[in-house]
Amino acid sequence: MTVLIKGAGVAGLTAAFELSRRGIAVEVMDAAETVGTGASTYAGGMLAPYCEREAAEEAVLTLGLSSADWWAEAVPGEVSRKGTLVIAAGRDSVELDRFASRTRGYEWVGGNTIGELEPDLAGRFDRALFFPEEAHLDPRKVMTGLYEALVERGVRFHLGSTETPTETAYSAVVECTGAAAIGSTPGLRGVRGEMLFLETTEITLSRPVRLLHPRHPLYIVPREDHRFMVGATMIETDDDGPITARSVMEFLNAAYAVHPAFGEARLVETGVGVRPAFADNLPRVLEQEDGFSIAGMHRHGFLLAPAMARQLADSICAGRHDPVYAEGALQ
Ligand SMILES: Cc1cc2nc3c(=O)[nH]c(=O)nc-3n(C[C@H](O)[C@H](O)[C@H](O)COP(=O)(O)OP(=O)(O)OC[C@H]3O[C@@H](n4cnc5c(N)ncnc54)[C@H](O)[C@@H]3O)c2cc1C
Repeated sequence: MTVLIKGAGVAGLTAAFELSRRGIAVEVMDAAETVGTGASTYAGGMLAPYCEREAAEEAVLTLGLSSADWWAEAVPGEVSRKGTLVIAAGRDSVELDRFASRTRGYEWVGGNTIGELEPDLAGRFDRALFFPEEAHLDPRKVMTGLYEALVERGVRFHLGSTETPTETAYSAVVECTGAAAIGSTPGLRGVRGEMLFLETTEITLSRPVRLLHPRHPLYIVPREDHRFMVGATMIETDDDGPITARSVMEFLNAAYAVHPAFGEARLVETGVGVRPAFADNLPRVLEQEDGFSIAGMHRHGFLLAPAMARQLADSICAGRHDPVYAEGALQ
C-alpha cells in the first residue's frame, strides 16, 4: 500500500509525515522544483489558536491547541513557545477590549510587563493582552525540516512535474494542492494574503506582536538574522499578482507605529500567497474518487495541518471510505 501525496506545501508535507510515521509507504509529488513554494512559504508561522478565535470558529481553537506539540515532535527545536503580545495605539485602545471580549487564554498586562516581555517596546504602550500559551515557528525552516525527515525515512519525492508518476501502483492519492484546487473543489475560494520582510538590527522582538487597528491590523513575527515578517492582508480574490503599493504603505506605517526603528529597516522581500478557503473558513479532509484531499486551510495552514494530517491518517489506517468530514462535524 503506497499513498501518493500531490502537493508539498504544509498540508502535503504534514500528511506525508503523519502517514509515514504510522508505517504507511508514501511518495510526494509537486509541480515546483522544490517543496514549500506555495502559500506556505509566505506564512507568518504563528501557532495562535487563542488569538485566531477572535475571527474564527471554535474548531480552530480546539483543533489548533495541540499543534505546537505536533510540530515540536516532528521538527525538534523549531517551535518557539513565548506567547503572543497584542497591542494597540492609545487612541485605538478600545480595540483591545473588543479583542479581549472575543478571545480567551490571555492576561491583561501593563506597561511594566510589556517592557519585561519585549524590552524594545518599553514605554511605548500602556496595556496589552498577553497570550502565554501560543507559539510560533519559521515556516520555511520547518518545511525543509519535514522534507529532510521524510527523505531520511525513505520517502520518494517527484518534483517539478504535474504528471502522476507511473512506476508505482498507488492505493490512494491525496490531493494537497492548495489554491490550485479552486475551481475543481466545490466551494473553495481564494483569499489573497500579502506580506513583507523587514531587516534591522535596531530592534529585537521575542514573539509575534499583533497591532490592533480598526482598519489595518497587522502582526510582526520575528525571524532569525534580524528579519521580521510583517503581514498580512485578507483580500477576497485568488489574484496572486505582486503586492500593491497601498498594502506596502499600510504595513510600513503600522510597523513604524510599533517602533520607529522599523522606519530605518531594509525592505528585503515582499510576497503574496493565496489562501484556499471554504465559506466557513474551516479546513476539510474530503473523500475523492481515488483517495482524499486536504483543502481549505485558509489562514491556519500551520496551525491546523497537524489535525488534518491525523484525520487523514486515521481514515487511511482504518480503511474508511465514507466522507471524513461531514458539514458541522468540526463544530
Ligand atoms: C501572508 C500569509 C500569512 C499566513 N500566516 C499564517 C500563520 O501565521 N499561521 C498559519 O497557520 N497559517 C498562515 N497562513 C496560511 C497558510 O500559509 C496556508 O493555510 C497554507 O499555506 C496552505 O497550505 P497548502 O499546503 O494547502 O497550500 P500551498 O502551500 O499553496 O501548497 C500547495 C502545493 O501544491 C503544489 N501544486 C499545485 N498544483 C499542483 C499539481 N497539479 N500537482 C502537484 N503539485 C501541485 C504547489 O506547487 C504547492 O507546493 C498564512 C498565509 C499567508 C498567505
